[in-house]
Amino acid sequence: MGKNKDMNDVVLEAQHLTKHYPIKKGLFGKASNYVHALEDVSFQVHRGETFSIVGESGCGKSTTGKCILRLTEPTSGTVTLDGQDFTALQGEALTEARKKMKLIFQDPYSSLNPRMTVADIIAEPIDIAGTYKTRAERDARVEEIMQAVGLDLAFKYRYPHEFSGGQRQRIGIARAIVLQPELVVCDEPVSALDVSVQAKVINLLEELQDRYGLSYVFISHDLSVVKHISDTVMVMYLGREMELADKDSLFAEPLHPYTQALLDVIPRITHERIQDKKILQGDVPSPTNPPSGCVFHTRCTKCMKVCTQKAPELHEVRPGHFCACHLFDESLSEAERQLSLDPTLVAQEKAQETGAEVLQD
Ligand code: SF4
Repeated sequence: MGKNKDMNDVVLEAQHLTKHYPIKKGLFGKASNYVHALEDVSFQVHRGETFSIVGESGCGKSTTGKCILRLTEPTSGTVTLDGQDFTALQGEALTEARKKMKLIFQDPYSSLNPRMTVADIIAEPIDIAGTYKTRAERDARVEEIMQAVGLDLAFKYRYPHEFSGGQRQRIGIARAIVLQPELVVCDEPVSALDVSVQAKVINLLEELQDRYGLSYVFISHDLSVVKHISDTVMVMYLGREMELADKDSLFAEPLHPYTQALLDVIPRITHERIQDKKILQGDVPSPTNPPSGCVFHTRCTKCMKVCTQKAPELHEVRPGHFCACHLFDESLSEAERQLSLDPTLVAQEKAQETGAEVLQD
């Protein structure tokens, strides 16, 4: 958690981010359908905070990270960085703004050039940017960052294959922060590492955040890690925001049935990833053909009639705690509140009433 967070200072704002990937068919590659990877996602990241995005595989969290960095262009919506419309920038202005936002990859090995020494890998961003005029200044910066991430200076002229997974991730982190960015997108930064190494890398990220005033967008499947590191958490499902709140509210009093299902499973999957476990009965629906109404209704044990017809909007249920669920819509009629008669859901309801297992290991 960022000790120096300033909740009055917004460093990054995403507004109505949407990403549809065309599925092309035929000789002329005409789009026959679209993958709805992201639908109308909005949030703010404050300076010095860790904003986590969590959900099952395919929920859109990595696409959100890519759209923020413009590694993929959003279909619509905007990303504002330090008050500047990042999505509208081109050429020099885009190159300059990109120095403020960096990415830490899930798999450090594939992101490091095997033919470059550690010192050159870390220095590459400052070499490209031309940040330092002399070789001595550049080398001093590399050494400073190596020490900050806990890499022995004796490793300067070694190659990536000579390092363990945890050390490689330290090299990846050093490379990401060498230009002193304001915001770092951490895309599953510890999920490829052994459990014993994960805690060390997480502690390092926290130390660096406090030292350099970094803001993080932290993308993860691992709720134990998210609970530890986050200030704010956004829960996503099928490309949509389901719930958004500060970490303490979300973990103490989750509102959305999907978040509740994710959190119920934590004690059983400590240190394991959500994607490795089946959280709920039924499969995640296809993003090419998302369900009508609430996209979660095909798996929700509390599904009402209205849920199959009308998509719930994200709204503030308690101060600072947002949720997209009709359960909190006081304007609904009694008829709309009736439970759905979907046979799978009725079976789940019965199982819940009798205390039978609904979640599967
Ligand atoms: Fe479940 Fe309905 Fe809420 Fe969706 S809107 S999460 S289906 S109760």
